[in-house]
Amino acid sequence: MSEGHNSTSEQRVCPWCGSANTRLVQRGFTGPTDERDQYFTCASCGQLTYELVSRTVRDMRLGQYRARGTYRDSVRQTKYQITRVLKVGNNEYLLYLKPIVRDQAPAANHRANPT
Ligand SMILES: [Zn+2]
Repeated sequence: MSEGHNSTSEQRVCPWCGSANTRLVQRGFTGPTDERDQYFTCASCGQLTYELVSRTVRDMRLGQYRARGTYRDSVRQTKYQITRVLKVGNNEYLLYLKPIVRDQAPAANHRANPT
């Protein structure tokens, strides 16, 4: 299962605190565990940031995940924008996530209907 690229040493920066003291856990193929999601953890603030999450067809239907939609990590109270949805198997989808950091998103352009 070698695909030729090996650009995984690139350092992640924690979106929540800006620290580069992070540790990437890659999905599946390389890790010691059978990890289905890909994420990195931050040693400075302890937060976990998802890059990819794996979902089944059933999950997709229940969660109504779609590109440009929102993915919520209820355990950690963090939110992500789904940048891409990719089907990778008969019963598996990958959601590509981009963290939504509260402070830099005032959400002011959401008010389309002034009363
Ligand atoms: Zn952090």
